[in-house]
Amino acid sequence: MMKLFSRASSNPVEVNALESSEKVGAVQERCDMLLRSITAALDMMKAFALDVEELHSERFKDDIQALAARFQEIDKPKRQELHFEQKQQDILAFIDRQHAYIKDREQELRDIIDLLTKVMANLNVENSDFYHRINKQGEAIIKISGLDDIKKIKNALKAEVEQMWEIVSLKQDQERRQIRQLAGQVHTLQNQLVEARAKAMTDSLTGIYNRQALDEFLVEKIEHNSPGADGFSVLMVDIDNFKTINDKFGHIIGDRVLFALAQKCRASIRGEDFLARYGGEEFTIVLEGAAFRHALKIAQKLCNTIASVRYATSESQNGDYLCMTVSIGMTHYKKGDTMSTLIARADQALYDAKRKGKNRVVGRKS
Ligand code: GH3
Ligand code: MG
Ligand code: MG
Repeated sequence: MMKLFSRASSNPVEVNALESSEKVGAVQERCDMLLRSITAALDMMKAFALDVEELHSERFKDDIQALAARFQEIDKPKRQELHFEQKQQDILAFIDRQHAYIKDREQELRDIIDLLTKVMANLNVENSDFYHRINKQGEAIIKISGLDDIKKIKNALKAEVEQMWEIVSLKQDQERRQIRQLAGQVHTLQNQLVEARAKAMTDSLTGIYNRQALDEFLVEKIEHNSPGADGFSVLMVDIDNFKTINDKFGHIIGDRVLFALAQKCRASIRGEDFLARYGGEEFTIVLEGAAFRHALKIAQKLCNTIASVRYATSESQNGDYLCMTVSIGMTHYKKGDTMSTLIARADQALYDAKRKGKNRVVGRKS
């Protein structure tokens, strides 16, 4: 113990009083220092706590605040000690929860890195520019998993994901352009297909449908759609003595005659009726919804019209005009008819018309 006074002192009581007051002062100083330390430690603990709702950080911080305030109270130290012991458990539990939370988040980030690495590895990139960029990015993402600080991982990952978005959106733009290009090509091909199909169905000399188109039309009409109550009629139109026309005026004029006849037939029927060149100098007309008698009248009118026309040729100065007549065989659709029976009946009627002297119409019901 420190001696404040010499042995010769005449007042030992006073010396003891001085000694104890010195002790009290030191203890007080120590208490103050401890209180400040505890308050600082509690403040640090408050600052250390993460602000996360699911950890109930707010409540934890309030508890710490209340504990710090309680230490300021000088009375009932025993109760304070008890209270501190209770709170100690809560503080340790919070620290455990916080550790577990950080560990979970870390694991989540590593899972994201794994996932991104796998996505990168599986990206099927044919374009070499994108391939290099994605490869580089894959390496960067693998490096991130080596970082041990959660904040560094988070920031690096954010930067890499932004990069990845950029690459993906560039790739999407490129693909969109490719799709547009392909759609354009498909459109062109479709148009070409439609044109090719139309060409395959058209007679090149007269511009009307050909035999192929007639067959498809009749099959569709008879087999896939049952004809309505009025049904339809078929006319086989054949130029009379066409061979003679060819022989007299030549094949080129003969071709023009075929073209002119096709025009006349087209002009004599309605839009919904069907006209095709069956072959050679023979044409087929399908009259929609025309009953037998009505179809017969139309055929007769056509026969008369054709016979009444005089076509001028180079030899017309000599008064030699080109005239032609046609024979028409006509029939009406019957239930149970196939394309062949129908055409055969119309053909038979045409044969009858030729036999009876040409330039006429013959109709056959059966
Ligand atoms: P019919 O009154 O009995 O029908 O006698 P036709 O002379 O009209 O019939 P035939 O079958 O004896 O002769 C048809 C002619 O049609 C023979 C062929 O050279 C000609 N012909 C067929 N196709 C064409 C063509 O595309 N152009 C030309 N100019 N002639 C054709
Ligand atoms: Mg003929
Ligand atoms: Mg013929």
